[in-house]
Amino acid sequence: MLGPSQPHVLATSYHSPQLEVDLKLNTNESPLTPPEGFLREVANQIRRSSLNRYPDRQAMELRTRLGELHGVGAEAVFVGNGSNEVLQTIFLAYGGPGRSAWVAQPTYGMYAQIGATTRTEVVSGGRNQHGELTADTIASDVSMVVICDPNNPTGMVEPVELRSLPSMRSDQFFLVDRAYHDFDQREIPEWGGENVAVVRTFSKAFSLAGLRLGYVIADPAVIDALYGIVLPYHLSALTQVVALTALDWRQELQAMVGVVIVEREAMISRLASMGLSPYPSATNFILVDMGVHDAHELWQLLLERSILVRDASQWPGVGNGLRITIGTPEENARLLSALEEVLS
Ligand code: PMP
Repeated sequence: MLGPSQPHVLATSYHSPQLEVDLKLNTNESPLTPPEGFLREVANQIRRSSLNRYPDRQAMELRTRLGELHGVGAEAVFVGNGSNEVLQTIFLAYGGPGRSAWVAQPTYGMYAQIGATTRTEVVSGGRNQHGELTADTIASDVSMVVICDPNNPTGMVEPVELRSLPSMRSDQFFLVDRAYHDFDQREIPEWGGENVAVVRTFSKAFSLAGLRLGYVIADPAVIDALYGIVLPYHLSALTQVVALTALDWRQELQAMVGVVIVEREAMISRLASMGLSPYPSATNFILVDMGVHDAHELWQLLLERSILVRDASQWPGVGNGLRITIGTPEENARLLSALEEVLS
């Protein structure tokens, strides 16, 4: 029998176990379900949509509304089923055989996986002694540069000066993953340029990970290239309708962002006072170096208390770390007291 052409191990290496637990702090979702009024409006809108018909293939209304949010036209917006799919589409368009993509470790594991499945050579680079990227650390002899800003799993932002790099490297393509943008409180100009794709998602600050909506803001020529390879009707009518409704309810859906930021800072102080080393974070999670304690063992002990965090200890460049998603104040209090218990 003919086997698959893709090595199976790739698809299983990154993913977090989906376990039934009381407290799920492992995949950087929002701890809050969307408000009742939003769900009612979604139901009304779905009732009005013609599900017997194919959806708008170009998702023009959604792209127009997202464009308004970013001060660009619909021709500068691409939409997909979650930002992972969007990342894969970019790799298909700008990577592939004979092309290379540079990623800085530690970073989001899907870049390496998507690189492998799209047959793009992935080149891993490092950071300076402060854990930051600088223009010198970013290879100039690769086709694509992938930057996760703020970065997963460290939670840290990259230096603002880097945003001028794409204009000096016009022969390279820059993929900038801004999944956690809304938790970064710096008021600075967004990444941009003809050779830059800025990737965003509804999974984090919009509290809609279940929806699967991601999008790209880029030059219209880049957007055309992405639409040139994506399957027809790839974004369902349901996704389009829910995303449009989410834009009407943006303020309500994103209301938890402020709470998460306050909780994040309080959690960082508490973790440090326990003798652990939390990284600074501009996201909805914290990477914590567990010091003398064994991160994997702690992960297991927390799981026995029905708390699921992310064991990051096997990830490249992380060391002895756990990554903890910020939950509601009650959830965070429960995590902290469980952690105190297992550390003692
Ligand atoms: N990029 C980064 C940096 C992420 O952390 C995640 C989710 N963990 C994603 C992209 C994918 O998000 P989604 O596919 O839900 O939009």
